[in-house]
Formats: sequence, structure tokens, C-alpha cells
Amino acid sequence: MALRYSKCGLPAMTVEVKGLGVKCSECKREEAVVELRYARKKLCPKCFTDFFVRRVKRTVEKYRMFGPKDRVAVALSGGKDSVALLDALKRAFPEQDIVAFYIDLGIHHYSSHLREKVKALTDRLGVPLHIYDLKEREGYVIDDFLTTKFRSKMCSVCGIVKRAVFTQMAKEVGATVMATGHNLDDTVGTMLSAFFAGDFESISRLKPVLKPLIPGQPKKVKPLFNTPEMEDLYYVVINDLPVQECHCPHSFGASVSRYKRMLDQMEQDNPNVKFQLLSVFLKRLVPMYEKVKELEEERTEVFLEVKPCRVCGLPTSSPDGICSRCRRVAMLKERGGQRIEITADEVRDMLAGGKRVVLIDVRSPSAYAKEHIPGAINVPKDEFEVNQSRTIRKLRRKYGKGTTFVTYCYAGRESYPVAVALRRAGLRGYSLLGGIEEWKEKGGEVERVPEGVTVPE
Ligand code: SF4
Ligand code: ZN
Repeated sequence: MALRYSKCGLPAMTVEVKGLGVKCSECKREEAVVELRYARKKLCPKCFTDFFVRRVKRTVEKYRMFGPKDRVAVALSGGKDSVALLDALKRAFPEQDIVAFYIDLGIHHYSSHLREKVKALTDRLGVPLHIYDLKEREGYVIDDFLTTKFRSKMCSVCGIVKRAVFTQMAKEVGATVMATGHNLDDTVGTMLSAFFAGDFESISRLKPVLKPLIPGQPKKVKPLFNTPEMEDLYYVVINDLPVQECHCPHSFGASVSRYKRMLDQMEQDNPNVKFQLLSVFLKRLVPMYEKVKELEEERTEVFLEVKPCRVCGLPTSSPDGICSRCRRVAMLKERGGQRIEITADEVRDMLAGGKRVVLIDVRSPSAYAKEHIPGAINVPKDEFEVNQSRTIRKLRRKYGKGTTFVTYCYAGRESYPVAVALRRAGLRGYSLLGGIEEWKEKGGEVERVPEGVTVPE
């Protein structure tokens, strides 16, 4: 069993689940395919699926995440965690009223791909899918924030928007519980990084159940908070579930958090380390912090006041009564979004008008050598991916900040994340719509390798 999978921040990979050459520790009949070192088990596909679903069921029941009367909304992103969550919840609670939510964030070359995946999954499971199209409903898309001061913190803005929209959707469809796919590695990794920053408030928000801040809001639950990340992936592969196969352009060149890497290293020596840390944080640190906070509030008589946002009505504790999402959207509307893609005609007009334009061919050196747009330089996409800040620094130093950079590839998909990365770094980056293929179709010139000269691959 194999699956092509792409996780934001990691190169695309093929995940393979194959026989371990030993019998399953549960059924003792089938060949085991997954080893769970912390549980000292080697399981076959069926027993692994049962084990996974049982843990989800137990977690929901133990933490009283929802009851038979609740309408549970599962926030789907199309990634392995939320996909595994929806499938496992359907198996564990076949009678439960479950609906799925998807937000089309309008991220170019990404959101529509995920939309297809979540549609395929919910059709297969027979779960009603509610789609919130950001552009249709609110008139902007996540990519628009690239032209604001939030351009270097796109994931943070995206997270704020997603949280607000999911809460809004829950209200619209009467969902009383909102389930998200946060896994063990995410939870402990974030806990550790917040711990080093002394941010105990963030740690306390990582609890598996968060009660509504104001009446009428859904309860937020994380049924996978004690499920290791790799197991979500195995579950998706084993059960052949539709899942994301490409990256979000905003995560291009990002790396996995150093805390998660640190935890993976520690796990080599101690397979239980992530569970142990989770337990220390949730059973010791969070209750202690909450007690101290309560005493502090009583002593100073300063209570965190949560009230509805003056614009959207969702809960906020900000002093001006406007929530983080509405504040960011207001700024965006003031500035107006700007397109990151540019047509061949527009590029030609810019060049003819004497604008300082640098064309960057992000394909391989051999593709560039065979044929490229006259005057274009070659900086392969890999260079941006592996050493993004150094590559961009070099461009900035050589061509200056006022230059317009137009990236291109064959068809416009590969060059888009590079243009996004240039924007994030504060440069005027565009991606050529339709790539060199459309450039040629529109009558654009190209420089070709002379007849008889061979280009090494
Ligand atoms: Fe995920 Fe960041 Fe892309 Fe939003 S912008 S979808 S948080 S990678
Ligand atoms: Zn608001």
C-alpha cells in the first residue's frame, strides 16, 4: 500500500506501508504492517484500524467530548489528520449526527485541489459537507494578505481567519461541537515551544476540550490529541482515503518546527516520551497555571472580559471590542488585495514601458538551457526551497528592492510559491500566468539552444 502525500513544510513524499515479515500481535494471523513501539505492538491493517478507532472512541468518551444529542462538526482541511479523524469518528459513532466543514481559502493552486479531496471523502462516507467560500462570502482570499504587513506571518493570519470562520459555520448549521484534527506531535511540539517562551496561556489552550467562551458557541474538541502523527498517515494509507497531494504555497521553504524535530530524536531513545510530556503538561502544569491565574484575577480584580466582537459577533477579549480577524480584514480592505499572477501581455507592457523587470525561470538548468524567455535568469525552484532567505537576499542585493520579479515555469503552478516567497520577503514578486507555454501561445519570443547543440539533462 502506498500513497503520495504532501505535508506543508515538507517535500512531497510517497508513504508506503508494507509487510514487516512477522504476524500481527493482535490477531496472530495476518502479516503486521505497522509497528507501535510505545505499545510494543506490530499490527496488521485491520487490527491497526480497530486500534486507531478504539482509541478515538475511548478519548471522546473519557473527556466527554460529545454526547448522542450533539451535532458534531469536523473541520476538514484535506490533510491526513482531519481526514483520518472524520473516517474514525464515523466508524466509532455511526449513529452520531456528524457534518463536515471545509473553508475554501482561495489559496491559488491549492484550495481547489483540497476541495476536490474533501468532496470525495465526504461523498464516500455519506457525511453532509458544508463549504464556506471565502471569496464568495467575504470578498477576499488568504493570498490577498500578501500585500499587507502580515505577509511574513501568513499562517498566523490564515489560522485566525479559519478559527473565526469555523465558529461562524458552527453557528450557521447549529453544530454544538467542533472537532479538529490536532495530533499528539502538534500538541506536544506546540506545548514545548510555548513552554520555552513562558507562554502558559497558550499551553492551557491546548487542552483536548475547550468550553465555549460565550453562550451559543460550539465546544471545541480534539479527539486525536493523543494520536501520534505518523499513525494518522498510516490510517489514511491503509484505508485508502483521499488526502492532500500538494503543498500550500505559503508553506514553501518552511521547515518542521525544531521542537517537533527534537521530540522525534528523543523518541528514538524513549518511545513514550511524547505521551509522558503530554501527561505532565495537562495533568500538572495546566491545572497549576489555571489556579494561579484565578487567584491572580481575584487579587487584582482584573478579569479577562470576553464579549462579542463589534463587527462579527464572535467572542473577543480585545480592549477595543474588535476581534483579531475583523481587525486584519479591515486593514486588508483598506489596502485592497493585489494579484500575484500576471499575464504575458502585462509583462510585455511592463518591459516595453521601461520598468525594471527581472524574469526568473524557476525550472531546471537543462530546461532553461533548452529554451527560455529572452533576458530571463535561471534560479531553480529547489534553490528557493532549500535556502530561501539566502537566495532572496542575493536577488535583493543584485537587483534592488524596487525591481519587479516575474517568476515562471512551464505552466504557472511551480512558479507561484516562489512569487509568494518573494512577496513574503517584501519584494514585488509575480508569477507568469500559464508559464512559458502560454507565453509562447500569446506570441512571446523565446531563446532556444542553437541547432546541433545538446544540453546535458
Ligand atoms: Fe496552512 Fe499556512 Fe497554508 Fe493556511 S497559509 S493553509 S495555515 S500552510
Ligand atoms: Zn470579529
